[in-house]
Amino acid sequence: MQPRSSSNQRAFLQLCLLSLATMVFAACGSATPAATAVVQPTTEAAPLGQPSMTSPPPAQIAATAGFQARPEATETAPTQALPPIPGCSAEVNPTPSTTEGPYYTADTPERTSLIEPGVTGTKLVLTGYVLSTDCTPIPGAWLDFWQADGNGQYDNTGYRLRGHQFTDEAGRYYLETVVPGLYPGRPPHIHVKIQAPNQPVLTTQLYFPGEVSNQGDSFFFPQLLVTMQDTEQGVMATFNFVLEIQ
Ligand code: FE
Repeated sequence: MQPRSSSNQRAFLQLCLLSLATMVFAACGSATPAATAVVQPTTEAAPLGQPSMTSPPPAQIAATAGFQARPEATETAPTQALPPIPGCSAEVNPTPSTTEGPYYTADTPERTSLIEPGVTGTKLVLTGYVLSTDCTPIPGAWLDFWQADGNGQYDNTGYRLRGHQFTDEAGRYYLETVVPGLYPGRPPHIHVKIQAPNQPVLTTQLYFPGEVSNQGDSFFFPQLLVTMQDTEQGVMATFNFVLEIQ
């Protein structure tokens, strides 16, 4: 009888071990889809998200994906965490400052589109980066835009064609507006203030290529010309602001 009992005990022990192994395997197996589920939202939660007119080239998308994998680095040292943008040399000159002019209004609404009912002019999409002089994109930089409408008129009582925004995780900004019109004594231009986190404010203006009156303008610098491109979706301009980080 004793041998039979020992044999039953061994069989029971083997059955327990087999059951335990099955449970461990099942637990490990269930962990795999959970890990996949964590990865997928990380990718989806960081859309590069602007309309197709602003979709960055693949090289920039790849770089951006790398940025988002290290959000803690972006928060603690934004100017150190991001690699230089593709095509940017090791050192670039800072964007020149120029006069603020008489029409700045503080406390503008935060928005990326200045187009609203009553705004006149040809639609313009303006995009680009805010960079440091070593070509590093700066996330969280503040940009405050203001400009005349297509007829050269400023709104000095409200916030029409005025608005601020912040660069995204890749240091990019995106603005929907209209091509500003001429007003007496000035070529078309867009005013802007830019500030990297905890850095001084740069006040400057953007100009448009091909405008004869640019050269006679007291505040004009060739470095302030945007790059223009006609697309199926309208007029697109690009400009990268470069800040000296102190
Ligand atoms: Fe102006």
